[in-house]
Amino acid sequence: MNINNLRNFVIISHIDHGKSTLADRFLELTGTIEKGKMHAQFLDMMDIEKERGITIKMKPVRMKYTFKLKPYVLNLIDTPGHADFSYEVSRSLAAVEGAILMVDASKGIQAQTVSNLEMARNQNLVIIPVINKIDLPQAEIEKVEKEICNLLNIQADEIIRISAKDGTNVEKVLGAVIEKIPPPEIKEGSFRSLIFDSDYDLYKGVIAYVRVFEGEIKEGQGINLLKVGEKSETKEVGIFSPLLVPLKVLSCGEIGYVATGFKDARKVRVGDTLASVGKDILPLPGYKKSEPMVFLSVYPRDPNHFKFLKGALEKLVLNDASLSVNPEMKTGLGRGFRCGFLGLLHAEVITERLKREYKLDLILSTPSVLYKLNIGGKDCFLHSASEWPDNPASIEKSWEEWINLKVMTPVSYLGNILKLLGSIQSSYSETRYISSDKVELVYETPLREIISRNFYDKLKSASQGFASMSYKFLGWREADLVKMDILILGKKEEAFSKIIPKSESFKEGRRIVKKLKEVLSPELFSVPLQAVVYGKIIARETLTARKKDVIASLYGGDYSRKRKLLENQKKKKGKLKERGNVRIPPEAYFKVLE
Ligand code: GDP
Ligand code: MG
Repeated sequence: MNINNLRNFVIISHIDHGKSTLADRFLELTGTIEKGKMHAQFLDMMDIEKERGITIKMKPVRMKYTFKLKPYVLNLIDTPGHADFSYEVSRSLAAVEGAILMVDASKGIQAQTVSNLEMARNQNLVIIPVINKIDLPQAEIEKVEKEICNLLNIQADEIIRISAKDGTNVEKVLGAVIEKIPPPEIKEGSFRSLIFDSDYDLYKGVIAYVRVFEGEIKEGQGINLLKVGEKSETKEVGIFSPLLVPLKVLSCGEIGYVATGFKDARKVRVGDTLASVGKDILPLPGYKKSEPMVFLSVYPRDPNHFKFLKGALEKLVLNDASLSVNPEMKTGLGRGFRCGFLGLLHAEVITERLKREYKLDLILSTPSVLYKLNIGGKDCFLHSASEWPDNPASIEKSWEEWINLKVMTPVSYLGNILKLLGSIQSSYSETRYISSDKVELVYETPLREIISRNFYDKLKSASQGFASMSYKFLGWREADLVKMDILILGKKEEAFSKIIPKSESFKEGRRIVKKLKEVLSPELFSVPLQAVVYGKIIARETLTARKKDVIASLYGGDYSRKRKLLENQKKKKGKLKERGNVRIPPEAYFKVLE
């Protein structure tokens, strides 16, 4: 094949704006999938993706298309459309020369679309603007056209109006891909490629999805992961058609796969350079290890299902190098795992898969973020309260991660949105007008505020679903962190302990003891429920005693007998209290944590 007839591209669009549907039309038009065998949203292979209509994992596809009598090969990478995966998006953008920017005519531009567009521009990609869903009666084509013109600084006639559903003008988009996007540049030399995704195959081991930037790669050739410094031998190379099709050689400019022979999926990271073995071969620019930033504990509701949970998580980790899993044990909950995710959506997708594909009934803690402490001159990262140092005097400094938060909203919901943003710890940066009735608000806020308070859901309900958000990490900033413990009848219940900024501890402490009071059943004696920071009680509720009616069997007279019984009861209670055991049913743990 002539490399000048090769095009590599992506589709940038917000969730639900029709990316998968457009990809389906491409597959049909190019005859990649025979029409009878086509089922909707072919590139979304996971059930949850189909059901929830979100794209989580990139499925690349290679298509053949004849345009003006010349044969072309088109490689399409489907990018994940959510903030959690922004680094993965940036790597898949780095693997191509152009992007279709697609906006839903009934919704207009969304926050995430703008962030992805910024990343595309940083990669110098050619942008092809497209408005989708023009068939909808509620389509506001001219309005959305204006938004795109403002954003890209272009004329309206450069935008292609399509219906991915009906197929209207979809060939025009393919024509623009061929005419506007340049073919890849060819570089002779030692093999170097960018890993933009990976998968695990039981027989072939870790399969790296790559874009070749220099040289070529054949089966049996030695390979080297430049960032982790691991060597292996290629088992197979090939292309996505869209199933894996082996080739003799994968050449420069191509997008394809390399069966690496590595068994450990965690070594093959997105953004690393897969290259030949040899001296003086430098990694491609822009590698960043994606670290989990959001944590939650996962326990089987039935402790006997621990083994199933373990097996299921092991399988998921094989296909997802950004998921971290560590065993954990908590009184009352038994054995489970603390899992680390890139963000909330990532967490939601994985826990949904555990529930659905593995039929596990799970207890999930509320999500928390990573914290950083300097203990005795050494920096450490804390994922949960159980790692808090025993001697708080040894903590010299503490930090939490901040983000740059962008919220885009129609002006009509601005009041609600400003109120919501005012209710969290945040500082205002700026307001940008996208069009006369759509604004983007930029704030700085701790990641914790977004993660632990259901911010995303609140944003959606404050705007009837019209506002959208995206965020970028800004780095660690100093925070006055403390560990808050919960005492029940004076006894610490480890499962409820948490790391929290001091200023938040009063509110959160009150919330937990209140909740406990609701969910615990009364004992024969009254039970103090306390939230404690550094030995100081900051919130307290009392679970009032359930009175056993000891005098019920007596009717009438005999006052002294009644009094005796009541006094006996009092004495007994005292004893019970000394022995001090409050039974905490597992449900109570779930209710406070969930
Ligand atoms: P993705 O999340 O961007 O991949 O979006 P999908 O391709 O899954 O589409 C989301 C929803 O919009 C689905 O219900 C599609 O059927 C629908 N959709 C996509 N394109 C069009 C279109 O051109 N017109 C109409 N009316 N609906 C569309
Ligand atoms: Mg999709």
